[in-house]
This record gives sequence, structure tokens and C-alpha cells, in this order.
Amino acid sequence: MSSITINNWCFTPVSPAQSSSSVATKLHLRPSVSARLSSSSSSSSNSLPSLIRNEPVFAAPAPLITPILGEDMGTEYEEAIAGLKKLISEKGELGPVAAAKVDQITAELKTPDGGKAFDPVERLKTGFIKFKKEKYETNPALYEELSKGQSPKFMVFACSDSRVCPSHVLDFQPGEAFVVRNVANMVPPFDKVKHTGVGSAVEYAVLHLKVSNIVVIGHSACGGIKGLMSFTFEGPNSTDFIEDWVKIGLPAKSKVLAEHGSKPFGDQCTCCEKEAVNVSLSNLLTYPFVRDGLVNKTLALKGGYYDFVNGSFELWGLDFSLSPPTSV
Ligand SMILES: [Zn+2]
Repeated sequence: MSSITINNWCFTPVSPAQSSSSVATKLHLRPSVSARLSSSSSSSSNSLPSLIRNEPVFAAPAPLITPILGEDMGTEYEEAIAGLKKLISEKGELGPVAAAKVDQITAELKTPDGGKAFDPVERLKTGFIKFKKEKYETNPALYEELSKGQSPKFMVFACSDSRVCPSHVLDFQPGEAFVVRNVANMVPPFDKVKHTGVGSAVEYAVLHLKVSNIVVIGHSACGGIKGLMSFTFEGPNSTDFIEDWVKIGLPAKSKVLAEHGSKPFGDQCTCCEKEAVNVSLSNLLTYPFVRDGLVNKTLALKGGYYDFVNGSFELWGLDFSLSPPTSV
């Protein structure tokens, strides 16, 4: 398996050489959107990174590109809003509040550039330009090396929570950590049928990238763990996916309830945030290639806990003995 696939997960500018490739031809930008991207690029080509040229920055399908809306607002948006009104009306809920909400959405869609409406495409463009100027172009040696492949020392499991990005919290540089993020940073037990996304990541990290450490990092105020502690898991599920997923942590919940049943719910959640990490570490032992790595001492498992309320980070080994918290 080549590492090229992994490298290509990154945002990749569409270079002139690729302009006739399938990536570019899939864009099908509306004329107004193309013009907007091109004009903003060409008008300041001297000051912008070279990737902002006469090509779209992001290889995203057309529906993800925010169109310019105004007086010539496309009929499909009107239809969508009409459909939304119809849907709400059919549910008998088109009261004053719902109607106001629809009006607000409509107004936001009509807000011209320069208005206070959030422009996600602009935010992504700005973010990438900043990264390119401040990181990519200031460390050509690193990116030259990374263009040949990756050999990260760490595989990291972290929560999808927007506040706990491990690259920020642990200052991982590109190439340092192979990261899986999911709700409540869980590692399910080895199963060739379920959760193959996680299984394939562990397999690839251990067997092909040969990472030497797998770190599972829990965190404070985790919504996924709160869900685990709150769901009754009796009768039909109330969610499409979440209950089935966080159920992976049920052994942690049972232990916390048995040992800390008299504590307030918030404290139980905190305990479970850490105990669920231990469950994931145990689950990693069900992967044959992980066991082999541990036996051969080419792989180590670590648990971590990031408390973003107090600004501390704890790290522990497979024996689950806590190290003194590292506070910043
Ligand atoms: Zn979380």
C-alpha cells in the first residue's frame, strides 16, 4: 500500500498540470462562482501564494461552493426555501417562530459579500493561505521530505470535539501523527464487519507505517461520554448512530457506576472520560498486529487525558498507572 493515498487526503491545489484532470472537470463551477474565484485571485496574484491562480483552490464539488446570491438569486434556492416552508407547514409547526426562522435563513442567504453572514468558503481559503504562507513556505525541507512519504511515530485517537485537536494540543507537526478522530475517541474491539474504518486505520498505522506508539486521548466535558452515561440503552435507540457507537464504552460506564455511583453525574462523566480510554486501550489488544507489536516491543500503548478547563494533560501507560499531571 502506498502512502500516496494518505497524502492526498490533504487539501490539494489544482495545478495547471491537473487542470484537465478529473479533479478539475468535476468542479462544474457556475460562471459567477468561477469569475469570483478567478478575479479575486488574478487581481492580487503578486501577494497571494502561487496556488491561488486561475484555478479553483479547493477541489470541492459544486454544491459546496457558496454561490453569490443577490437580486438574481437562483430559483433552486427559492425552491429549497419553499420546500422547507412546506415541510414545516405539513408538520403543523409553521408558527410565528418557525416562520421567523425561515425568514432569517432567507435573509442570510441573500446577504451580499461584505455582510456579516459567515462565508465558509472564504474562511477555508483564508485558512489555507495563512497555513501556506506561515508554515508550508517557511519549511520547504519538511514538505519536501513529506512529499516522499510519511513515517509518523504516533497513531493518535482523539475525539471529534472541535476543542481538542491533538495537533494543536500536542503541537504535532505534519508527518508526526497518524490521527483518527471520532465521537468520544473510542477504539472498538477487532471486528472485520463492524467499524472497519477504525480497523483499517489501526492496520495501516501498525503494519504499514510502523508507528511505535498508539495514544488514545480522552478529554474533559466530552459530549460523547456524557451521552454514554446518559443513554439507558433500553428499548429502541433514540439516535441513528450515536448510541450504537458510544456503546463501545459500556464497560467503562459499568465500572464508573459500580465505583463512583454515589458521586454527582458530572464527576461520574469525568471518571468515565478516563475509564473509556482504558477500555479503548484494552480493545486495541484484540487486534493481532497490535499484540504482536507489544510482544516484539516495537509498539507501546498510552492513555492520555486533556482537561481543557484546567489546561492539564495526563499520560499513562498500558498498566494504567497515572503519571503526575502535566499542567501548562
Ligand atoms: Zn469528546
